[in-house]
Amino acid sequence: MSFDSLGLSEPLLRAVNELGYTIPTPIQLQAIPAVLNGGDLLAGAQTGTGKTAGFTLPILQRLSEAPAPLAGAKRPVRALILTPTRELAAQVEESVRGYGKYLKLKSTVMFGGVGINPQIDALRRGVDIVVATPGRLLDHMQQKTIDLSKLEILVLDEADRMLDMGFIHDIKRVLAKLPPKRQNLLFSATFSEEIKTLADSLLDRPALIEVARRNSTVEAIAQKIHPVDRDKKRELLTHLIQKNNWFQVLVFTRTKHGANRLAEQLAKDGISALAIHGNKSQSARTRALAEFKDNTLQVLVATDIAARGIDIDQLPHVVNFDLPNVPEDYVHRIGRTGRAGATGEALSLVCVDEHQLLKDIERLIKRPIPQEVIAGFEPDLTQKPEPILRRGQGGGGARQGQGSPRQGAPKQSNGGGRSSAKPAGNGGGGNGNGNGGNGGGYGSRSPKPVAAKTGGNGAAPRKPEGSRPAGAALLGGKPRSEGGGGAGRRDTPRTGQRGR
Ligand code: AMP
Repeated sequence: MSFDSLGLSEPLLRAVNELGYTIPTPIQLQAIPAVLNGGDLLAGAQTGTGKTAGFTLPILQRLSEAPAPLAGAKRPVRALILTPTRELAAQVEESVRGYGKYLKLKSTVMFGGVGINPQIDALRRGVDIVVATPGRLLDHMQQKTIDLSKLEILVLDEADRMLDMGFIHDIKRVLAKLPPKRQNLLFSATFSEEIKTLADSLLDRPALIEVARRNSTVEAIAQKIHPVDRDKKRELLTHLIQKNNWFQVLVFTRTKHGANRLAEQLAKDGISALAIHGNKSQSARTRALAEFKDNTLQVLVATDIAARGIDIDQLPHVVNFDLPNVPEDYVHRIGRTGRAGATGEALSLVCVDEHQLLKDIERLIKRPIPQEVIAGFEPDLTQKPEPILRRGQGGGGARQGQGSPRQGAPKQSNGGGRSSAKPAGNGGGGNGNGNGGNGGGYGSRSPKPVAAKTGGNGAAPRKPEGSRPAGAALLGGKPRSEGGGGAGRRDTPRTGQRGR
């Protein structure tokens, strides 16, 4: 099936064609007609599935079909796309501009950490589409620098992440101010009770779309565990990078403080490295990303949220310096490599404290990850596990309980249970060729098949079985707030600028 058959207009098809996309991804196949139809949508899809074009293309078409504003009249904001992170907001707006390059629509992006005045200027000049993070949008709403009274379409992108980051109150405050008659699109990778409640209150007889979750790992990614003592991790990482002369290494740490410290230590070892996380200024984040993308920066050390949504194709190396507290984050992390059919490698440095986390990950991806002990870094098998949380790492690392970002007293819930640690160093080696994945991801130019099903045929919004949108049942999402899965994590401090 080609893009031509989806009912998109010629200027959009031309833009898509120029980007080299020939075959719509499963989410696009389903979402585009559904959104064009004008009804609400509840979609289960992650980054990498092509979801951005799935909502952007039909939104652009719907907006462009309406009569042009009268000469001299200011354009009202007609579509609002909310995203959890600044990076994702910037990327989505870039997509809006890319796909809409042959249309006369105007868009702008607004997030915190940068001056508000250029955003106010852009709004004053008039824009059709605003892509924003919730905090900064609220700032504009409070300052009355944005008028949303003519809003026609609202998108909540990565809604689960927004809730994880504690944006629910911000979102509710935004929703309360929007005109009631509008089209609502909600995208989420997982479907917790919280998301279902939000969907219930937001969506009217939504079309339901599901594409397979990437909770089995992407085929092209070779995964490996290097068992190592906790205080030898940095040395081992330096050894691996230098010995193999790796470039473009994305390293994940659990905490912002850990990211900073590691980047500094790597730099001392002669490896160019920068940290990227929510406490960094926007310009520092942008610079680090740009250098990383153009290969002048060897290592980017990131926290989960900072790395989320960053679409860097064909990353050769992803390293889990710390295993994530939430198994799904492992899948998100390693999904940064092996895109677009390129082979990638995902390594995890695992110490005795992390054996339970490793078990949880292996359970999620339904396979053991091969282990290889590196000579000279054999773990001390007599070492006792220590609790992972609050190991003097300076906050922010624990999965935190739900709650308002504006109150933000962290609750910890990591599920404990590290006493089951057993020696991991079996020297198993193996090629770690991670397969068995359902390949939910999409490379930028080489789509892989993704299992998809839809609750509706996309032709008409419909009420799903039961009175609720039934996201959990349909989409098979796992409540993230259970079992230490931890909603409410946030990557940026409650300083009044967080997430803005
Ligand atoms: P997304 O899930 O929206 O973040 O998109 C993931 C990647 O897939 C991005 O690099 C897109 O440029 C790319 N992409 C989106 N749609 C297609 C398509 N139909 N064919 C190939 N690549 C695509």
